[in-house]
Amino acid sequence: MQGSDQRTMQDHDVIIVGGGMVGAALAARLGNSGQSVGLIEQGDAPAAPEGDYDLRISSLNARSLKFINASGAHLPEERCCPFRHIDVANQDGTGHSLFSAADSGMEDFGIFVENRTLQYALWQRLADLPGVTCYTQCAPISTLTTGDARLLELDNGKTLTAALIVGADGARSTLRELASIGVTHYDYHQRAMIINVETELPQQDVSWQVFTPTGPMAMLPLPGQRASLVWYDSDEATKAREQLDDDALKTAIEDAFPERLGKLTRIVARASFPIKRQHAKRYIGKRLALIGDAAHVVHPLAGQGLNIGLHDADTLAEIIIQGRDPGDYLNLLRFECQRRAANQAMIAATDSFHHLFTGAKPLRQLGDLSLHIAERIPFAKRMMMQQANGLNPFKRR
Ligand SMILES: Cc1cc2nc3c(=O)[nH]c(=O)nc-3n(C[C@H](O)[C@H](O)[C@H](O)COP(=O)(O)OP(=O)(O)OC[C@H]3O[C@@H](n4cnc5c(N)ncnc54)[C@H](O)[C@@H]3O)c2cc1C
Repeated sequence: MQGSDQRTMQDHDVIIVGGGMVGAALAARLGNSGQSVGLIEQGDAPAAPEGDYDLRISSLNARSLKFINASGAHLPEERCCPFRHIDVANQDGTGHSLFSAADSGMEDFGIFVENRTLQYALWQRLADLPGVTCYTQCAPISTLTTGDARLLELDNGKTLTAALIVGADGARSTLRELASIGVTHYDYHQRAMIINVETELPQQDVSWQVFTPTGPMAMLPLPGQRASLVWYDSDEATKAREQLDDDALKTAIEDAFPERLGKLTRIVARASFPIKRQHAKRYIGKRLALIGDAAHVVHPLAGQGLNIGLHDADTLAEIIIQGRDPGDYLNLLRFECQRRAANQAMIAATDSFHHLFTGAKPLRQLGDLSLHIAERIPFAKRMMMQQANGLNPFKRR
């Protein structure tokens, strides 16, 4: 146990509540560097993905992929789709910008992967790490600090101790509530309808998004002639669309989406999610930290929610690995300062995108102007791409 010469014996160096993608990634990264980790998950260990692609898809950028590689997890290539271009336009064609990875000297921008494929790959890695213990089907009911440890009481009768407890238990985090950390939140009064489809046309290396006054329409490529379509619209319009049968939905998509999508050969699956933003008022407490959606939820239109959660995990892991005491308050403050600034910037960026492209006409004209600027000033475009990849745009490579 790291630093145990000066601290009382605890069950683990770090306990992570929530074995979703962010919590499992932090557990794997810490376990891979020899830390003793306890991972608490209220559900079961994830099952191996098979058959049709799942609806929950995420993009992983360069920094996120580097972090996952550092944990030793292996993502199956056949279920990942690298993308090299991001095409952003408005519906009437007056604003358009094409971002290409090659312009920044990169082979691709990252990959699209099912959430369950990433989570499963991370849990497979955890099974190989002797320092990691996974506790499934249990959840915390209370927590308190005692000297150099924090205690976590679970609903299965167990009590565990660690130098640091991390909440990675999603937007409705129990750990955040137990630590009395409040949130600010905002409801966009929008839903994202996600529809997995098979297409006649192959379009696997470009991810595109078209802004309309009622919300964006996006195409995220999946391996083979498959795609995940994201259709943002008002609560009412989305609920009405959900009543359509597959044939009627196919027609509605072919009518509303840009022609470049081509014909659909199959609707594979669909569901819709409310769009909200949320930010924890603090990311840390005594021997406690929040990461991922437990700390922040951003508008998904830029595909960055999971990425910034993994960046939280990356920053926290580096601070823990380099320090002596994982729960050292000054180190946790360093984590909060670094990550709050970055996450606040992402919240502001996604918020302005939403308001610029779906707001009143003068705002939308400003949105079109920003696409013109990005298209005509290569420096501005490169900076935006590096920012979206989790890279420091001001750092010389
Ligand atoms: C429509 C949509 C599209 C998106 N697209 C993208 C994208 O392209 N790119 C991107 O980066 N992000 C995207 N996101 C955001 C991304 O899905 C989330 O940011 C990400 O899933 C958060 O991961 P997490 O591990 O923090 O939380 P979660 O995925 O919510 O995982 C939390 C885990 O904790 C467990 N848990 C919960 N409560 C407890 C408890 N009390 N005790 C123990 N365990 C508990 C849960 O069972 C779960 O396993 C999108 C979001 C939406 C809604």
